[in-house]
Parts: sequence; C-alpha cells; structure tokens
Amino acid sequence: MSSKNKIYIIDVTNRDGVQTSRICLSKLEKTMINMYLNEMGIFQSEFGFPVTRHETNYLNANLELAKNKVIFPMRLGGWLRATREDVLTTFKLAPDIKHLNLSISTSDQMIIHKFKGKLDHASVIQEMSEAVAEARRLGAVSIGVNAEDASRTNLDYLIEFSQAAKKAGADRIRYCDTLGCDTPFTIYERIKKLVKAIKMPIEVHCHNDLGLVVANSISGAIAAIECGEDAYINTCVNGMGERAGNADIVSVILAIKYGEGFKGKDFLDEKIDLKVAWRMCKYASYAFGVPIPINQPGIGANAFAHESGIHADGALKDRRNYELYDFEELGRGEAEIVDTGRQITAGEYSGIKGFRNVFEKLEIEFKNDKEAAEVLDLVRYANVHNQKPLTQAELLFIARHPDIARKIFTMTP
Ligand SMILES: [Zn+2]
Repeated sequence: MSSKNKIYIIDVTNRDGVQTSRICLSKLEKTMINMYLNEMGIFQSEFGFPVTRHETNYLNANLELAKNKVIFPMRLGGWLRATREDVLTTFKLAPDIKHLNLSISTSDQMIIHKFKGKLDHASVIQEMSEAVAEARRLGAVSIGVNAEDASRTNLDYLIEFSQAAKKAGADRIRYCDTLGCDTPFTIYERIKKLVKAIKMPIEVHCHNDLGLVVANSISGAIAAIECGEDAYINTCVNGMGERAGNADIVSVILAIKYGEGFKGKDFLDEKIDLKVAWRMCKYASYAFGVPIPINQPGIGANAFAHESGIHADGALKDRRNYELYDFEELGRGEAEIVDTGRQITAGEYSGIKGFRNVFEKLEIEFKNDKEAAEVLDLVRYANVHNQKPLTQAELLFIARHPDIARKIFTMTP
C-alpha cells in the first residue's frame, strides 16, 4: 500500500559538506551543486551560512536564481545558530531568504562542556524559542530547529525542547546524530518515542563514524513515517561531510527505492529523478578534488562491472541476476569521449579567439563582439575563483546568467 507520508531529501553539501576539513567549494561550484540538486528534484538545498559575510553575494545571487525560477521548485535553506542575533543578521544580509534551520546543542555533554555555564537546559529552550519567533516575525516561510547532538540528549529533555520549538512556530525538528553514535535500532526507537510525543515532521541528520549513516538515516525516517509524519533525510553528494561524512545522497535514494520491504510503499518524494546523479556526482568529485571510490553505490566504476565467470555470464543472461537497479536510471551508459588532440581550455588569461572556439563547441552564439568580450571577462574571473579549468556546465551557466555570475564572483572583505 502506498504511503501517505513521504521521505524528502534536504541536501546539506553546501553546508555540512563544505564546513568539512580539507573540503572546499568556490561560490560558483556551490551554485552548480544547487543547479544539479534542483534538476534532480531535491526538496531543499541547505545552501550556506547567511551570517558568514563571504557567503552574502553568493546567497543573494542564488536567491535571485530562485526568484527567477532558474532554481525552482527546490527550496534554498540557510543554516544559523538559534539566537535572535543570528536571525536578525540573516535577514539583514539576505532579506529574501525564506527557509531556515536554527541550530543549538541539546545534550548534557554539550550544554555542560561546550556552553560552560553560559547556558543551561532552560535557557537553551528560551534562546531557541526567541530565535524561532523572531524568524517567523521577519518572514521565514519554513523553519527547522536543529537539536545538535540529539542522539546523546536525554529523551525527556529532547521532547520538552521540541514541544517548545513547535509552540514557537517551528515546522520540523532536525534530529542530529552529530557524533554518529546511533545504530539503526537506537535511532528507530528514539525517533518513534519523540514523534509520538511531539507529532511533528522529523529531519534525520546522521554521520558515518560507525559506517552506519545510510542505515541510520533510513531507520530514523521510517520511524517518523510509522508515526504518521513526513521525514526529511539530510544527505551530501558523494557522502562528504564532517569527519567520516554524512549520508550519501544517491545511496539514500537507492535504499528507499530498492530496499527489501520498501517496494510499492512509495516512500520517496515522487519529484526525485536519478537521471542527473551520474553527472552531479562526477562534477562534485571534480569540484572537491576527491575521487569517487570504485565501489561507491550506483556511481562507482565497479557498480555495474562484472568479471568473474559466473557473475559475468549471469549478468549477460539477465541483468537482474546480479544487478539490483539499472545503470540507465542513474544517467550512466554513455561513452565518455576524451579529446586526445588539441584542446583549448578557458582560463584566467584566455584570449577572445580561444574563448570563441570553446563556446562554439558548446553551440553558444554571442550577439556581438561586446557580449562575447563580457562573457570572456566573467570566464576569466570564474577561473581565478575555481583555480581549475571550467566544466562545460559552468561555462554554459556563465553565458546564460552573466549578471548572476558577476554577483557570485564579487567579494568585498
Ligand atoms: Zn552534521
């Protein structure tokens, strides 16, 4: 029987992904990730930190893309601390922002050893409630409240905290397994008790310190659904994220679609289309500078490769003998053509002739020399910004949205 409640994806690559040690994305690369996620039909991208000054132009430029329906219908959500001050700064720096997640720690460990007497259990709830009410007053359309370290939080306190968030106007609670210490059994039990008490949709935010991240995310989401609420799973492209990472977006989607016992239940947000998965994951790998492991689910080089006699013979006779899902569904199967002769790349010192050659190959025509020169100038800036050859998708983005690109590249410390 089809489920009335759904599992939606809130991808946090542009927030948890980029706050990770050694992982960087330029503002153009973050924008491209938003474009790919939107094409994939993802519910929301947590697109950055509205209180961080170097994000301001990028955030506002992406909000403009949303307003112009270039990034649509995906929501763009900002992450901030659950304080009135951060909410005020957010709406000052990014006035058109509509979707927010406000975060505060809820475990004894963090209240005692992180806040060090600055806040106690009661003032954590008070601070969060004031921040939520302020965000509502300033026009937030949706608000998630993040209980940082929820998995180590006393359950009675977590319930009290969540009820206060609901009363203040929050739409969802983000259950954060910040340390990745939950198991599929504990997270299922805890979210069940929590949702029964608070009757609110739940976001499940898990980390992979025990290698359980996808299993925990699914288990937590199913617990919410069984209590009659929608669930939102936080993911990252290629499983990036703090330390051992967050839940890999493709693995989560495949698990909800093809996990034994889930068939016919239609848990997954029906807007999601995996066709862009291959292109998006390859792009993210290039942008991060982190190769995709050959055994990565769905996307790794070996995900549909067979060599041993019995497996190769079986897969050739009928793909279902050894393949759970089809490579075509993930947008795989086309040969990748690599130019081995002369190549003209577009870079920060490119000239107009080489540049025209690059764009002619992409079948982009310019109205006149002035327009071509303007786009070339932006492409040079993009290269200063990315410090590696631009991809075709990036070049197309700049040619199609030169004014937005200009805002993205503008940074004034
Ligand atoms: Zn996290």
